[in-house]
Amino acid sequence: MTSAQGAFFDAATAERLQSFNDLLTHDYATFLGFPAALDFDYSPLIPFTQYFLNNIGDPYVNAFLGTHTKTFEREVIAFFADLFRAPKDSHWGYVTNGSSECNLYALYVARQKYPQAQVYYSVAAHYSVPKNVHLLGVRGVPVATQQSGEMDYDDLRAKLDPALPAIIVATIGTTMTEAKDNVATIKDTLSSAGISDFFIHADAALAGIYVALGESHHPFDFVDGADSVNISGHKFIGCPTPCGVIIVRKEDKERLQAANNYTGSPDSTITGSRNGQTPLFLWYAITTVGREGFLRRAQVGQRLAADALARLRALGWEAWRNPDALTVMLKTPPAPVAKKWQLATADGWSHIICMPGVTQEKINEFIEDMGAANSDE
Ligand SMILES: *Cc1c(COP(=O)(O)O)cnc(C)c1O
Repeated sequence: MTSAQGAFFDAATAERLQSFNDLLTHDYATFLGFPAALDFDYSPLIPFTQYFLNNIGDPYVNAFLGTHTKTFEREVIAFFADLFRAPKDSHWGYVTNGSSECNLYALYVARQKYPQAQVYYSVAAHYSVPKNVHLLGVRGVPVATQQSGEMDYDDLRAKLDPALPAIIVATIGTTMTEAKDNVATIKDTLSSAGISDFFIHADAALAGIYVALGESHHPFDFVDGADSVNISGHKFIGCPTPCGVIIVRKEDKERLQAANNYTGSPDSTITGSRNGQTPLFLWYAITTVGREGFLRRAQVGQRLAADALARLRALGWEAWRNPDALTVMLKTPPAPVAKKWQLATADGWSHIICMPGVTQEKINEFIEDMGAANSDE
């Protein structure tokens, strides 16, 4: 096939792309404040960027369209269903555009099960949770957090309405402090309120993989009481484009009405056409890196975070960290340091996140900058 673009490719276009490449390389060198692994190499998949890949419809039913990656998508779902201890033969899931879509899907499924339910989530939950609550037209009830960013279960208990079913969003790795809500404690709280009709969604976008693989078990998965669990693919795993994975119980998904359509595959997801590249990226990551590799990569990040915390404190800079987190909270550094390292800031606090790919050298340079800024003050 002759390409549509080739005939028009000229020196100006090449130059524009080269300067964009230079800009990205420059920004990569000081990337420390956003939870995305950057050290991936998907070059063996480059040939597949030359194909139109569309996973429209249900991952388990091929559409009429032949150019898709559903075989790979099903393997990705099986990997995460197993990691999150979903019921072996009665789970369902798909690869989404990211965890915001995962949260929408989970809340959609939960609302179909309990249309009268209120949705409880902590104030540290991701902003897509209240947004999706609004989209679905259900009633949301924000719950306070403890200092660490973990849900305040006493406040949850006080806010639960025992007359109504409850949908709870547990965040496993909050966006600011990487706090983890405890699904077992949430279940106990529901039971002490006398609520037996409930649905718990574990939003594990950032931390789900390494929490599941970690030595000390933190309760958050299906066996612990979650009814759905999600992760983002572009965060801990690392992926060139945003994506996510949502796992639910099959019976919950079957409560949804898939619209009749002409594609040959049931319309059981949120969007119509779906990205066919991202399942291939995720499949490649789980096939090459796998469970052991993910665990090792998390441990490197945890060691770096512990090291960064100790050195910030040695400088006399106020800082803290949740147990096993890759995130280190610190009083917002002086503006030039915060700007250089692209640090998010809220209420006078910032964080660095020791994602896979962050090196000891990068931490050293950051600590040097902090030391210099500190002595200038
Ligand atoms: C990042 C994040 C999200 C949103 O994920 P996207 O993939 O950016 O849509 C949702 N929840 C949590 C806990 C997150 O960390």
